Amino acid sequence: MAGSTHTVTNQAPPLVGHDVFTADRALTAAVERHLAPELREEAVAELSGLGRSCGSVQTQEWGAQANENPPALRTHDRYGHRVDEVDFHPAWHRLLGKGVSAGLTAAWTRPGGHVLRAAGFVMWTQVEAGNGCPLSMTHAAVPALRADPELAAEWEPRLTSRVYDRELRPAHQKAGALFGMGMTEKQGGSDVRANTTAARPLAEDGTYELTGHKWFCSAPMSDGFLVLAQAPDGLTCFLVPRVLADGTRNVFLIQRLKDKLGNRSNASAEVEFAGTWARRVGEEGRGVRTVIGMVAATRLDCVLGSAGLMRQAVAQAVHHCAYREAFGGKLVDRPLMRNVLADLAIESEAATTLGLRLAAAYDAAEGGDERERALLRLAVPAAKYWVTKRCAPVAVEAAECLGGNGYVEESGMPRLVRESPLNSIWEGAGNVQALDVLRALGREPAALDAYLTEVGAARGADHRLDAAIRGLLTELADLGAAEGRARRLAERLALVLQGALLVRYAPPEVADAFCAARLGGDGGAAFGTLPPTLDLASVVERARPVA
Ligand SMILES: Cc1cc2nc3c(=O)[nH]c(=O)nc-3n(C[C@H](O)[C@H](O)[C@H](O)COP(=O)(O)OP(=O)(O)OC[C@H]3O[C@@H](n4cnc5c(N)ncnc54)[C@H](O)[C@@H]3O)c2cc1C
Repeated sequence: MAGSTHTVTNQAPPLVGHDVFTADRALTAAVERHLAPELREEAVAELSGLGRSCGSVQTQEWGAQANENPPALRTHDRYGHRVDEVDFHPAWHRLLGKGVSAGLTAAWTRPGGHVLRAAGFVMWTQVEAGNGCPLSMTHAAVPALRADPELAAEWEPRLTSRVYDRELRPAHQKAGALFGMGMTEKQGGSDVRANTTAARPLAEDGTYELTGHKWFCSAPMSDGFLVLAQAPDGLTCFLVPRVLADGTRNVFLIQRLKDKLGNRSNASAEVEFAGTWARRVGEEGRGVRTVIGMVAATRLDCVLGSAGLMRQAVAQAVHHCAYREAFGGKLVDRPLMRNVLADLAIESEAATTLGLRLAAAYDAAEGGDERERALLRLAVPAAKYWVTKRCAPVAVEAAECLGGNGYVEESGMPRLVRESPLNSIWEGAGNVQALDVLRALGREPAALDAYLTEVGAARGADHRLDAAIRGLLTELADLGAAEGRARRLAERLALVLQGALLVRYAPPEVADAFCAARLGGDGGAAFGTLPPTLDLASVVERARPVA
């Protein structure tokens, strides 16, 4: 060909056109494990359909477009009226519409719904993680709204609907709705007691007017928000609709959109309330208790989202190395690269296995299983702490597996790297999770009992796991001066739980590598330091995304 100087060889083809669900063996195994037999066939067909959509060229393109064309704030219309709307690229709407219609906000409506949705969420994150924010908050608002049966009756069918209805209209005119949350203020995010937004009662019926601000309020195009504000009797949870029942706009002043490191397709706003109409949810002074139902669910989504990002990172890395040759052979066959890939793969499988186990606990707790509810109380903050912390190093190392290509935008890896720290920050940053683990240990003995029962089920199967459980029990025996070692405790709790789950459910080579490196001390600080005598080829092969 004229102008051609060379033939392009030895570049991996793009990883598209595959079923993201069936290609992920850890995920498919977890779904089959946690769903009742009568639900499995339909669930697998449904998830496989979503998996094909996630792997399609079209969906991947929308993900990239939504990132390259971030949302823009439109404060006023052409005549000068304040509108406070956010304009998104059409790709964002297509993706969010697909996410809603795939049931990613509908976990509460069907048996096994949390496991099914968790698997969908893990996959959808791999298409475009920014979408996960509104999907997660809408899903998670349901338990908090249930504190008020009247509000739940009005909104729950809309939040769990599979219709993506993006027009701003009053609730009764909506076929589907999205929710966000407003807790963080300038002077305090983790410490919400410092919130200054004031709520003044308007009438006996639970209506108030809010004055103040929120420093972070993501998905500001949503139909409603759960907001914390100071009422006469203390911090209280409120529902702030964007549109009032008579069709007029509520006061919701979007000041700016944040210019973020990653998560660029999603809008995160600074907002102000000035005489904003709000309806109380739960009792005055019990705001944190009311909203905690939402926060617990979004924290699990942080685990699932990080599991999704890690799976995508590992799939890309293994895929690349299965094609790319260097020094006379495939990278995937070089012992040192195999070690790196296997080390990344066990991290990804441990995250997915733990995330799906906790989703199953949600299903069981919904059905009245109090032990599973107690398990969630301790295991969710521990998992949120640890799994989200692992995401950034995994993403960075996986990008390096692609060499220079991994540093270039069109590989998709930089987007992944930029996204990777976020789940550790929002919904309570790392220290806050670790301190919450301490709170659960100190105040809720049933939570530790449930945790020990869960890990105890794996006892006797691996000597490194057994030793790690003994070590953990010794550390837990004395919680004096625990605040300064809360991270260590959260990490150990998460690692032992991951080890116990892998020993019970994963192939022996995966459990073996995990127990050796993460529990037995036979691995280094960087990835690629597993004992080389283990069956690492099988670990990598299991992680390879097959077309
Ligand atoms: C992209 C993005 C979107 C967001 N969207 C929303 C949203 O929609 N709604 C919303 O309400 N918030 C949102 N947030 C805010 C987010 O939840 C907070 O940023 C987060 O909870 C941390 O609060 P902060 O920023 O006030 O930091 P701070 O509370 O000041 O914390 C700073 C650091 O101190 C640590 N720390 C806090 N307390 C302690 C302690 N007692 N001991 C030791 N260390 C401690 C924290 O772990 C953190 O590392 C968003 C944030 C981001 C980045």
